[in-house]
Amino acid sequence: MAQLSLEGKTALVTGGSRGIGKAIALTLAEFGADVVVTYARSSEAAEAVKAEIEAKGRKAKAVQADAVNFDQATELINEIVADWGKLDILVNNAGITKDNLILRMSEDQWDDVITTNLKSIFNYSKAAARPMMKNRGGSIINISSVVGLTGNAGQSNYSASKAGIVGFTKSYAKELASRGIRANVVAPGYILTDMTEVLDEKVLDGIKQVTPLGRAGEAQEIADAVVFLASDMSSYITGEVIRVDGGMAM
Ligand code: NDP
Repeated sequence: MAQLSLEGKTALVTGGSRGIGKAIALTLAEFGADVVVTYARSSEAAEAVKAEIEAKGRKAKAVQADAVNFDQATELINEIVADWGKLDILVNNAGITKDNLILRMSEDQWDDVITTNLKSIFNYSKAAARPMMKNRGGSIINISSVVGLTGNAGQSNYSASKAGIVGFTKSYAKELASRGIRANVVAPGYILTDMTEVLDEKVLDGIKQVTPLGRAGEAQEIADAVVFLASDMSSYITGEVIRVDGGMAM
């Protein structure tokens, strides 16, 4: 019987300084993994996550790396393999929103969201492919969103990036399954983090009304699904999209 244990595994979480990425990093460590977190600007927060992981008796690193930067992604993964011997788990979590109605959306708003949310997934997943092949296995978990499945007014850039993640992940899963590499998507609904803090009460009430479980989700509830996909408990699951959304998009 498979165990929900990540003992002896190494993991990389992009955007692990705050919110969902932080919860994922801490939960991977809780189950036994050594964890590297990346961040864009929040060095203090990322160092605090590193310290929390180390307090659990695991190895940790916090690295400033813009997820958009292809070379940095390759260098970081090569460095992890050189220092820790291998990379078992990659969680592509870094993401941003720049919402606007299509008539008002600027080219920059489109480009920033597509490159940060989608190109970043290519950067890290490509860099992880060779070391994972050499290691005869690995698990990649890409954080999409339910709006990538349903669309959302005011989020055409974000929804396109998140839908792109689904197509990318399924293609990647098909290419690398024979090498023992699994790739899956977690699509969160409305989760309480800095990203959603900016929404006003009216919007939040509307979201709760269309969520069968009747509440917002916690970052921990996303982390729990990610740990399942990272572990051997999900050894026969690849190319799947798991919604963690209180039933919102069913
Ligand atoms: P937060 O805004 O709370 O945190 C975003 C994280 O991503 C931070 O660690 C941030 O680093 C990092 N990040 C942003 N841009 C970059 C970049 N260019 N390079 C490296 N790191 C970067 O977001 P959430 O925790 O809410 O979201 C995490 C993921 O979950 C995102 O992909 C988001 O789209 C997705 N999601 C969130 C939902 C929600 O309701 N919250 C719903 C559906 C999906 P720094 O701290 O340095 O800025």
